Amino acid sequence: MLTLFDYLERLNSLLRSWQRDDAQLSQVPAVQLSALRYLSLCNAYSDTVMGVTEYLGLTKGTVSQSLKALEERGWLVKEADAADKRQVHLRPTAAGLQVLSQLAAVDALQQAALALGPGFADALSSQLGQLLGQLQQQEKRSFGVCRSCRFHQQQHGAPFCGLTQQPLPLSAIELICREHQPAKSEESPE
Ligand code: SF4
Repeated sequence: MLTLFDYLERLNSLLRSWQRDDAQLSQVPAVQLSALRYLSLCNAYSDTVMGVTEYLGLTKGTVSQSLKALEERGWLVKEADAADKRQVHLRPTAAGLQVLSQLAAVDALQQAALALGPGFADALSSQLGQLLGQLQQQEKRSFGVCRSCRFHQQQHGAPFCGLTQQPLPLSAIELICREHQPAKSEESPE
């Protein structure tokens, strides 16, 4: 009998094989695409070498090499932080975002979920999010979505981070963050 693990592993194999079928993307190591996708989904507290390293669970050396390759492809640029010049942000370029939009697997997955009925994708995403949260209980970083963080607040009608004590752009509340901590209601009972 197939277990949850088997289904997830099979899905992962299928998604990777579609990537290999793409003429351009088949030449790009999966780790580079994973790093680029992470950088397209994370906020400004998380778009650093350390953020990518922690998210992918790889060594800093491997991640640095992949980021250098992405830069050489013109899919990523480094930008010094406006307030702290020692801090460097990694931003996907328009060309990098275009490559990500070509990931056939993302579209195919969405289409398959839509074919299974309205609400299927949202319900499954929510359940997978809960499963991930459960698995990550012992992990230092949850990389959750900003709006679900215990530090997420509203000040003067706008999003505000209670941890950094900084206002948040509206566009950042759906992004993932390396400082995220689950809100109380998301934590499992002890
Ligand atoms: S509220 Fe939480 S998730 Fe959002 S920026 Fe602050 S620490 Fe990160």
